[in-house]
Amino acid sequence: MPRFECPLCQTVLSVERNEDAPFRPFCSERCKMVDLGRWLDGTYTISESTAPDGIDPDGNELNDHAL
Ligand SMILES: [Zn+2]
Repeated sequence: MPRFECPLCQTVLSVERNEDAPFRPFCSERCKMVDLGRWLDGTYTISESTAPDGIDPDGNELNDHAL
């Protein structure tokens, strides 16, 4: 069962189908609208230099994160 986490309130949702989560990646219309409002307010800034943890610039997983 696909699971995703609302980026706003960190609620983890499990859905059977995409149609079950019309506000994805948000858990609800409320979170979606709050996020939209933040963008419009300029609260969010674009960060270009932040790489995901465990990923080096070449896209390879770092050894100390290997399982
Ligand atoms: Zn949410």
